[in-house]
Amino acid sequence: MNQPERERARREWRARRDTPINLDQHRDALLALFDAVRADENLTRPKLNRLIMRHITAGNQPVPQEKIVAAYRQLAARGVIQFDRALAERLQLKPMRTMSGVTPVAVMTRAHPCPGKCIFCPDAEGFPKSYLPLEPGAQRAEEHHFDPFAQTAARIKTLETIGHATDKIELLILGGSWSAYPHAYQEWFVQRCLDAMNERASSSLIDAQSANETAAHRNVGMVMETRPDLITRDEVRRLRWLGATKIQMGAQSLDDKILAANCRGHTVADTRRAMRLLRLAGFKLHLHWMPNLFGATAESDRVDFARLWDDPALRPDELKIYPCSLIEGTELYARWRRGEYRPYTDDELVELLIACKLRVPPYCRINRVVRDIPASYIAAGNTTSDLRVVVQRALRARGLQCQCIRCREVRDDKIAAEELRLDLLSYQTDATTEHLLSFVTPRNRLAGFLRLSLPSPDAPRAEILDEARGAAMIREVHIYGRALEIGADSSGDAQHTGLGTRLIERATQIARAAGFKRLAVIAAIGTREYYRKLGFALGELYMTRAI
Ligand code: SF4
Repeated sequence: MNQPERERARREWRARRDTPINLDQHRDALLALFDAVRADENLTRPKLNRLIMRHITAGNQPVPQEKIVAAYRQLAARGVIQFDRALAERLQLKPMRTMSGVTPVAVMTRAHPCPGKCIFCPDAEGFPKSYLPLEPGAQRAEEHHFDPFAQTAARIKTLETIGHATDKIELLILGGSWSAYPHAYQEWFVQRCLDAMNERASSSLIDAQSANETAAHRNVGMVMETRPDLITRDEVRRLRWLGATKIQMGAQSLDDKILAANCRGHTVADTRRAMRLLRLAGFKLHLHWMPNLFGATAESDRVDFARLWDDPALRPDELKIYPCSLIEGTELYARWRRGEYRPYTDDELVELLIACKLRVPPYCRINRVVRDIPASYIAAGNTTSDLRVVVQRALRARGLQCQCIRCREVRDDKIAAEELRLDLLSYQTDATTEHLLSFVTPRNRLAGFLRLSLPSPDAPRAEILDEARGAAMIREVHIYGRALEIGADSSGDAQHTGLGTRLIERATQIARAAGFKRLAVIAAIGTREYYRKLGFALGELYMTRAI
């Protein structure tokens, strides 16, 4: 796709997005669609998409679900149909999006050079390195001129329009390597995102953070993405000061030869050290791993994937598997043209992903198994964006199951608190003992979990931030169920049965028994009030209490 074609595609995308459904013209089709959605007892998102495609299309393109939801609300407002909350929920844009308990809002930084020279990474003018103009997140960011306030405010408004609760927001800051941006820009960017959540301007980052503690849209998690070689003790401190609670890092491979062949510009030792520094500081650790890099084979990738779990210095909490995409204009593309590189076939990829899924330990969440790059960018190789579904189906057909956190979440299941059992999974890393405490339903679904990190006596003292020294650390508390508005009633949903508090009490007992006298938590800004009620006091970077 050349530049004018991309421009045209963008214009068409915007036109499709901005034109509401003509209710008079599509009234009957919409009513038939609503009946079909209501009648399907085992509705899944792919099924919903198929139903929408079958009943109503715009040209050859599917109608976005958010327009269907808007049309439903308008028809109800006009009295054509009676509003049915259950049906409205089924029609929601991305029904799974808020199942993890919080509502993600992704924003993107402006273009800025990345110190990496990775041969597979696209470099689109006007966008942060690695992002492509037709990716939905990039489109939204560009539309708002990469302004953090405008992006955040618009996303919250859209989510509200389609019926999502927006009182608990996880902010995902996308854009190449965050740590490479100027400090003043970083500070301004986070402050303006918080201003949008607070619905008022602030005088400083600290002012915006304080205001968010009691704001209508509270920031209950903040994610930044960076490179392992940019992580130092000072950088870790700064990330925490800005409000980050989770760091996404591109490990891509655990083989120095493959890293060098792809010009990653860092080593496995850098990834191991970055993981230790971040883990000792309490961050949730999210790695990206990339099969099908230049020089790798499906077999070497299987070996490489095992290193993530066999090496105690790695063992991430979350993982995105992004099979390398072959994109025109990259160095990898040139090598492919010269016959030096081959993308895996779909079958090879699916078999590899199945092997990966079966190797993942229950303490990790696999967030993605493919990056959602528009097919028009991909020169060769896989273009299936619902690869996860294909892999899940293949696993089921073979009677196999992935044990990762995502595959065990409760989703829509109702929860009877008295039926939950409390499981404990402990494992070692190179600097800590990790305890994953989880509430599990009788059907083995995960209703919530807590990550407690106990620094080992021989953990390098110089690598631990002063405020965290000597403290047991709660790195994550996650309770599943729809992201209900605070105070909203939905009896049986996990968020409202005090599960978080019970997990914290159990973690306190474990930390105490291990000889710790102080418990710290890497509290997101919008959760400070919650922890204060549990006796934690706010320090500069963490909330702590004596135990
Ligand atoms: S570090 Fe990431 S953003 Fe930078 S060049 Fe490599 S892949 Fe692209």
